[in-house]
Amino acid sequence: MKNKTNKILCGLMLAPYTLCAAAQTDNRPNVIYVFPDQLRNCALNFWSQEGFRDNVNFKADPTHTPHIDRFARESVVLTSAQSNFPLSSPHRGSLLTGMYPNRSGVSLNCNSDRPNSYIRESTTCIGDVFSSNGYDCAYIGKLHTDRPERNDPDRPGQYVQDANPVWDAFTPVERRHGFNYWYSYGTFDQHKNPHYWDNKGVKHEPHEWSPIHEAKVAAAYIRNQANVRDTKKPFFMMVAMNPPHSPYRSMDDCMPEDYALYANKPIDSLLIRPNANLHMDKVKSAAYYFASVSGVDRAFGMILDALKEAGLDKNTIVIFSSDHGETMCSQNTDDPKNSPYTEAMNIPFIVRYPGHLTPRVDPLLMSSPDIMPTVLGLAGLGKDIPSTVQGRDYSDLLSHENLKAKRPDAALYIQNVNGEKDAAGKTIDYFPSARGIKTAQYTLAIFIDKKYRVKQTLFFDDQNDPYQQHNLDVNAHKAVYKKLFKRMTQLLKEVDDPWYSKGIVKKLKNK
Ligand code: CA
Repeated sequence: MKNKTNKILCGLMLAPYTLCAAAQTDNRPNVIYVFPDQLRNCALNFWSQEGFRDNVNFKADPTHTPHIDRFARESVVLTSAQSNFPLSSPHRGSLLTGMYPNRSGVSLNCNSDRPNSYIRESTTCIGDVFSSNGYDCAYIGKLHTDRPERNDPDRPGQYVQDANPVWDAFTPVERRHGFNYWYSYGTFDQHKNPHYWDNKGVKHEPHEWSPIHEAKVAAAYIRNQANVRDTKKPFFMMVAMNPPHSPYRSMDDCMPEDYALYANKPIDSLLIRPNANLHMDKVKSAAYYFASVSGVDRAFGMILDALKEAGLDKNTIVIFSSDHGETMCSQNTDDPKNSPYTEAMNIPFIVRYPGHLTPRVDPLLMSSPDIMPTVLGLAGLGKDIPSTVQGRDYSDLLSHENLKAKRPDAALYIQNVNGEKDAAGKTIDYFPSARGIKTAQYTLAIFIDKKYRVKQTLFFDDQNDPYQQHNLDVNAHKAVYKKLFKRMTQLLKEVDDPWYSKGIVKKLKNK
């Protein structure tokens, strides 16, 4: 079957036979990492289905995600993967570098008012490691870890966007970190009017709903249409879809066939979490948000189909995740992310590697910086994890359920806001406004003002209060609080966080 497929591929791309023959000699796995933006873990419908629902204490949203549901049954599925700093750029910075935001370079969401928040050229990223190990590397979709600069290929000396601040960015070759196939942008939220810059800096405006367009581009890359990749090499492809990110308010944002699944349904049948406030103005977004999730599911299905048709599904590691979640009217907040609530922090993490990973559900408390080393470990590149990486390689734990290896007992919660500004008003430093810890049982987050005084504490017993409806009184739960604070302090020390190095935890503890 494989030979036959390769011959077909050879015919399609008109490549010399020797090229395809050589392709069979490198048996290392391909890796595909698909991560839409703002897709909360509970938005995947399989969590309410047989085989999954007994592993979690929440109900899945009433979504239609048949492709991801099927994929999950073939995969190791994590219940408790966490986006430590649940905001676009900081998570992506950790994903690509394996470092926490204080080291990755991406301490705040990237825009032109924060010229210091971006991944530096000298940093070794996941693409750099795959590339130096002989992989063909593709990045498709939203990047949002680079600094907007006056480098528009079509308008030299100008930003790619006339806005203040500028959010979107063109990433030059020297900051693509090993990705030789490039079809990407910084951040841009017109879902049916997306744009991308290719390898050569040529801008493409396909006027198509972006996840479906990106799935077509990914499928073409898999099939090697137009000879876009070196088939002698295995490939590493990241596909970063923007929906279900906002806007989610009209048919400009999603596809009619997906919206039809949710249109005219009573709001209390869509927002079923008991912590949802059904009187918020945002409830109008629920149907569009879930429609976007279903559209992403279709797009992901297209990528899986292309992989199977190319005969590459058996030897390809496929991962589905997100950069953070979405509160969607839970917890009375308009902020969809950037909070310690489970809707924001808990992300999907589903890994399929036929013949290597036995499908199951696992409670591994994986953190954003753990993803890079774990993906490298799964691909057999554990020895090449850069020394700069702060995350852990959990590939052995994913491969062997009963392995007696040390499991993470906690994940950090991180929030930074703008800090010092220069004379021009640009933010040159960040202020670490909140830190916290998530364990299997608890979530604790402490918010401070600029004088390091506690502004707010969020403290939940996630096991007995899965929807985080009762903020625990610190004084009434002093022993648990102290234990969590101590563990958080150890973790902050380990990752060299400013809450430790600047003595903030010490100050808080002594109060
Ligand atoms: Ca995001």
